[in-house]
Amino acid sequence: MGTYTLLPLRDLVIFPGQYESLFVGRARSIAAIEKAQESESLLVLAAQRNKNEEEPAPEDIYSVGILARIEEVTRLPDNNLKLRIRGLYRVGIQSFDTTDEVYQVEVAELEADESESVESEALVRSVHQTFESYATLARRPKPDIAVAISSLEEPGRLSDAIAPWLPSKLEKRQKLLEIIDPVQRLERLLDLLQREVEVLLVERKIRNRVKKQLERGQRESGEGQGNREGGRDRDEFRAELGEIEDAIEAKEMSEEAKERCLKELKKLKQMSPMSAEATVLRNYIDWVLALPWNELTEDKIDIDASQAILDEDHYGLEKPKERIIEYLAVQALVKEIRGPILCLVGPPGVGKTSLARSIARSMGRNFVRISLGGVRDEAEIRGHRRTYIGALPGKISQGLKKAGSNNPVFLLDEVDKMSMDFRGDPSAALLEVLDPEQNSTFMDHYIDLDYDLSKVLFICTANNQMAIPLPLQDRMEIIQLSSYTRVEKLEIGKNFLVPRQLEHHGLMNVNISFRDAAIRSLIDHYTREAGVRNLERQLGSVCRKVARKVVRDGHDQKFILTPKRIREYLGPHRYRYERAEKEAEVGLAHGLAVTMVGGELLKAEVTILPGKGKLIITGKLGEVMQESAHAAMSYVRSRARMLGLSREFYQNIDIHVHFPEGAIPKDGPSAGITMATALVSALTNIPVRSDVAMTGEITLRGSVLPIGGLKEKTLAAHRAGVKIVIFPKDNEKDIDDIPQSVRRNMEMVSAEHIDDVLKIALAVEKPSDIFHPVEEEEDYLRIRSNGETGVPETLN
Ligand code: ADP
Repeated sequence: MGTYTLLPLRDLVIFPGQYESLFVGRARSIAAIEKAQESESLLVLAAQRNKNEEEPAPEDIYSVGILARIEEVTRLPDNNLKLRIRGLYRVGIQSFDTTDEVYQVEVAELEADESESVESEALVRSVHQTFESYATLARRPKPDIAVAISSLEEPGRLSDAIAPWLPSKLEKRQKLLEIIDPVQRLERLLDLLQREVEVLLVERKIRNRVKKQLERGQRESGEGQGNREGGRDRDEFRAELGEIEDAIEAKEMSEEAKERCLKELKKLKQMSPMSAEATVLRNYIDWVLALPWNELTEDKIDIDASQAILDEDHYGLEKPKERIIEYLAVQALVKEIRGPILCLVGPPGVGKTSLARSIARSMGRNFVRISLGGVRDEAEIRGHRRTYIGALPGKISQGLKKAGSNNPVFLLDEVDKMSMDFRGDPSAALLEVLDPEQNSTFMDHYIDLDYDLSKVLFICTANNQMAIPLPLQDRMEIIQLSSYTRVEKLEIGKNFLVPRQLEHHGLMNVNISFRDAAIRSLIDHYTREAGVRNLERQLGSVCRKVARKVVRDGHDQKFILTPKRIREYLGPHRYRYERAEKEAEVGLAHGLAVTMVGGELLKAEVTILPGKGKLIITGKLGEVMQESAHAAMSYVRSRARMLGLSREFYQNIDIHVHFPEGAIPKDGPSAGITMATALVSALTNIPVRSDVAMTGEITLRGSVLPIGGLKEKTLAAHRAGVKIVIFPKDNEKDIDDIPQSVRRNMEMVSAEHIDDVLKIALAVEKPSDIFHPVEEEEDYLRIRSNGETGVPETLN
């Protein structure tokens, strides 16, 4: 990738993104820096295996290091240099040129792309939590840095941002640097973090025990007697108490809160400064003082301006925006927050958080967000009582502290992901928080004072409305956001995400043009999602690649991003959408399903084998499909004669139904009619049209039952090149949700009965090619009406 000057580091490993000050004294190192300054101030930093080695040879230096930029050099009075450097990215040293005293090394870049998966999301979440504990216990990094870190979500960047704060040994840090795969690196980091937290907890315990012994000793020997150290602590302590008292006096808060603080302060004055109780009390007072009791921001609700802000931040989303505006209009009229809580429901990345943020911006309010995902303990919402060791306020109070005002827009993310266990039901606590009748006297167990939440504008988000606890749902006004079409994604990408990412990566002044085809390629081949979150990340990756080139080769180049370039930058395509078959085939029908990432084309294959009447179902969906498959089979048997089959046709054959690959649909596949169609096709040898896809459940009598997610399914069919979508008659009401651009190119046919489906889906010229008039059918029905077969009405 290039040749750079090498600066060996004695006892330090630098990570990408890290800023660090270095002091350089070795003549050889000073020469290295001077050399680097000649070439754009870039140099490679790599750690020495043995820090005492004065003149390290190539084999004494680790082969994975970092490319860094020198941001600032100061010459100190003793002629040493102080450098401020910034780590850019990992590199592997491929060869050393040792002809000169200052080594030149040839390096190759070692960064892997950020990958996304459910596991990595879970991992990121655990790292955030553990890091929070670490930061609290270790009292570093500073809160603003900790907050910045807690907003990182890409495994690679997150691990590189935390790594510099770990006090681990050089070898361990070097190991971490050497793990290229972001997820593996983050796993290793989590391991190190957890170990650190354990060590810190033990340390704290020991410190407390020693302090207690010390205090006891002091009390027994007449307090502070002749102890100068103690005397000095005492003075400091007194000064600190004075400061706290001033702060209490100055802070505007409720009468009750002020009284409580003064009372606790009085107690504090009686205590030994080093005692554990004193620390607990001081923390408590700090917390009460940190809450925004009377700090208010002034609301400016101007409907036109709000509409403008919502439009400025978001493409489309007409309906949600309209309902938000109505909501704001009501707030403006009643001047206080009453009535239902807004809850934005939709798949990840469709703009829920960002809508809430815009609401805050349009009202001139502060914004905070807490995640309720994985919360299962009431105490996480309303805190632990102070009698617990290490007690802290709950998420609501923590959020308020972050907000800094007592009327923020407060986003409660993932209300559908809370769970319940023996420690109490968090949704009950949340209900209290959200209930306007009760929330003017909300009490956090730790703070233990009434706090007025009635001015807070709470907004919730969820992925799945069904999973929101019912009592909460009763209080909510649900606003549904659905998946984006490819066209919408392209518009959002072009007009919102690209400009934002360019700015984010400092590329505003670079001559760069993203071709539509390139964005489309990112949408189709590098992401698979309902929203645009991964699209934004991938655009970010592309921008980083460009930034790297700019760093290396200067600003004068022009970047035209085409699908080919994207492939060069991001590697081979990751996803391929299932396309509809080109030719009509016997025994293969196209179904449609909804998964977490949107709609999906699903192929059902049926093969007939000689056998004894068994129905075999395989593929990832096998289990879920059992019932539907049996229902489909029963329907076919009841229609056997009409379809031109012998009544006992099944006795000498086995029927194999298979679903090749395909993601697992989230709420049942609704593939009854698809299976029935494939079955009839296989049995009658009539091919299924390749340009037809269908969705619907089937009853034993062949009725087609309604399904969910018609919009997502239709979008998937459209993307796969399907021309006709067959859907249940009862879903006709959902047709309006499907974008015109899609409907224009596709025929939507509703069906009430599987016979209607077959007439369209099977490749025949006229219906009578499928259905033959048969008298024995009467016979069969007569048996059934006598009740001899005992077939249940439906299986649903
Ligand atoms: P969610 O909260 O629904 O998971 P986010 O609000 O975090 O999703 O959205 C992910 C990203 O996509 C954000 O950067 C957001 O601004 C952007 N985004 C989503 N929908 C739109 C839209 N309609 N117009 C512009 N940007 C959007």
